[in-house]
Amino acid sequence: MNTDFLIKEADRCVKCGLCLPHCPTYQLARDEAESPRGRIALIEGWVSGDLDADHSLLKHLDHCLLCRRCEDACPSAVNYTALMDAARASLPRTAPRWLPDTLADRGRQRMAMKLATAAVKFGMQAWFPSVVIRRLLSVAASIHDVEPRFRIILKNRYAATGVVKGEVALFTGCMGEMVDMPAIEAAIKIITASGYVVSVPPSQQCCGAMHAHAGDQQRAAELKRVNLTAFAKKGYDALITLSSGCGSYLADIPELDCPVMDAGAFIQQNGGIMELPLTEVRRKVAIFLPCTLAAMGQQKQVMALLQNLPGAELLELQGMGCCGGAGLHLITQQHTGEQLVKPLIDQLAASQAGIVATTNSGCALQLQLAAKKAGLVISVVHPLELVAEQLVKT
Ligand code: SF4
Ligand code: SF4
Repeated sequence: MNTDFLIKEADRCVKCGLCLPHCPTYQLARDEAESPRGRIALIEGWVSGDLDADHSLLKHLDHCLLCRRCEDACPSAVNYTALMDAARASLPRTAPRWLPDTLADRGRQRMAMKLATAAVKFGMQAWFPSVVIRRLLSVAASIHDVEPRFRIILKNRYAATGVVKGEVALFTGCMGEMVDMPAIEAAIKIITASGYVVSVPPSQQCCGAMHAHAGDQQRAAELKRVNLTAFAKKGYDALITLSSGCGSYLADIPELDCPVMDAGAFIQQNGGIMELPLTEVRRKVAIFLPCTLAAMGQQKQVMALLQNLPGAELLELQGMGCCGGAGLHLITQQHTGEQLVKPLIDQLAASQAGIVATTNSGCALQLQLAAKKAGLVISVVHPLELVAEQLVKT
């Protein structure tokens, strides 16, 4: 246990409570133990030996979404994410330890999809006693419904069109080729059309965020080493992500020597879409800007990019700070997730927007599942997919 770090970081908290109104789990439960300040106090109590790591303590720590809303509000600059990651690494977990590797490993993803399809087809989900496995199967089956894509083989490098302005690396992520392929294709199309070479190093691996946040620091460190070899010291102008969950985690790795940027934010920061030949969208588009994009500090750029989409009628969905699809929470905290996503689904239903643009694949999945349950027919896309759809073929 890294006791010194836990004590030092927890000590920074002056217990002012300014973070409480920003915390989604506190907003739901109105319980101090479900707040950032309360969780820090629980960690302090456990480190000092005053509290046991019993089920109640572990549950309150595991409920944290790691949305980082509390970090933005904190006057003492508590590094809450690092504190929670370190605490979880030292404590038993209430969620199964095999889950991050199952979600991050492409072979296991395919197996889960096949099992899910068969389980749904033959009505076998109820045969599995574990709630987590049942939820995993139903999420996997819904991905299979929406995104039956293991089809495109990515090249290692895509040339820029026109005058070359630079070169970026594209981070596809462990789940990118399963849930984000349309976004990957759109990003390559728009970034190359904007004058940048796009490299897709084949040796890249999962970012490791799910492992780190689940307390598996050893696996997170292994993945970090592989990704540093793929992306660091290569002279890239940026490392581009299509899932801000991965982006916010990678942006905190100091050894990565290029800026980590959401694909849409990068385009907006480097000339925008005004010069691209685009047709009018002519529809209502709901926007959900995830907590992870806020953690990257790139919400304004993504919003500005969408505001420049010709003919789009935009509506920004306002929630409780997190949609509830936060990493493993999508699988392990279904009930809390449904409460957190409800205000977003209510706004979507009232707006009658048939499309939602968001920058994180976990949020996209969460919104898709919740909309389907509410009987709404919507598609959820990355902002660059909207741009790519409007690009006039030349
Ligand atoms: S990271 Fe999010 S859920 Fe966790 S304590 Fe902070 S605000 Fe609350
Ligand atoms: S805002 Fe920061 S210092 Fe204040 S209670 Fe929350 S974590 Fe502690």
